[in-house]
Amino acid sequence: MGKSKVLIIGGTGYLGRRLVKASLAQGHETYILHRPEIGVDIDKVEMLISFKMQGAHLVHGSFKDFNSLVEAVKLVDVVISAISGVHIRSHQILLQLKLVEAIKEAGNVKRFLPSEFGMDPAKFMDTAMEPGKVTLDEKMVVRKAIEKAGIPFTYVSANCFAGYFLGGLCQFGKILPSRDFVIIHGDGNKKAIFNNEDDIATYAIKTIDDPRTLNKTIYISPPKNILSQREVVQTWEKLIGKELQKITLSKEDFLASVKELEYAQQVGLSHYHDVNYQGCLTSFEIGDEEEASKLYPEVKYTSVEEYLKRYV
Ligand code: NDP
Repeated sequence: MGKSKVLIIGGTGYLGRRLVKASLAQGHETYILHRPEIGVDIDKVEMLISFKMQGAHLVHGSFKDFNSLVEAVKLVDVVISAISGVHIRSHQILLQLKLVEAIKEAGNVKRFLPSEFGMDPAKFMDTAMEPGKVTLDEKMVVRKAIEKAGIPFTYVSANCFAGYFLGGLCQFGKILPSRDFVIIHGDGNKKAIFNNEDDIATYAIKTIDDPRTLNKTIYISPPKNILSQREVVQTWEKLIGKELQKITLSKEDFLASVKELEYAQQVGLSHYHDVNYQGCLTSFEIGDEEEASKLYPEVKYTSVEEYLKRYV
């Protein structure tokens, strides 16, 4: 069996561009949806051209034109969506319901990976903090539509994107590590899981032709990257040879501060609450599902320490 042909939706996005690179690197014939709506956004257009020069095919299509989506889907075996899902940037998770309809109509797709790539919504939809819960609720709506349509799927639960969480030493609103002081959430000992986004893309592409991942949730939880906020800070301190001043933020003070913010920020902070104060990412057993670094030991994933070196 040859390698599947892949269509990536959201291919110029933060994660999407990495999925395109990983798909090309792993030898898949790779198609990227080129939406007319991007117009003269020169950065996106240049990125698409650069992918084309690396061997990708650009497919014209739009969420406003259902038939164009169906035709795009018919070209491939696998569809991966990396459509936006971060309120402080853009949030279009429910648009995927049109994509699910298009995949159903096309009838040829062997695997669909919807835009997930975060905490597993099935595990936390009942306990996630409001209003951040909306992200999980919408991802569950998409899952239900996929399963109702009988579309073969893989859900990738990628835990924390390193750029957001490690860059800011687990502090919301910061994406560069400080060199003077750091806010520690609660006791700072709740473990989370941090992944380089390029590794997330590599693992996601690995799953698409793998029968072990069919109709499963795949967790990206490599053992070296399961750390508490204090351990992340210690790793950074070792790299810069300096101890940071630490200011503890209690859960009560954190919750009080959330109320004063605008909605998009409240959504983001809710996720940080669940990760930092509840320790949600390490609060359950994977059970019958699969873990990516065990499935693909050949992938040399980036450790937290290696990732943090880029900021020194
Ligand atoms: P981006 O904000 O970078 O957006 C991705 C793409 O969405 C864009 O490039 C664009 O595609 C497409 N898009 C946006 N608006 C529209 C629209 N109106 N119609 C059609 N397409 C649209 O997304 P991210 O990479 O930040 O997020 C991808 C996934 O990762 C989400 O599910 C998100 O929840 C998750 N995530 C997880 C994080 C974690 O820490 N675990 C952190 C951040 C995100 P085009 O290229 O066609 O223009």
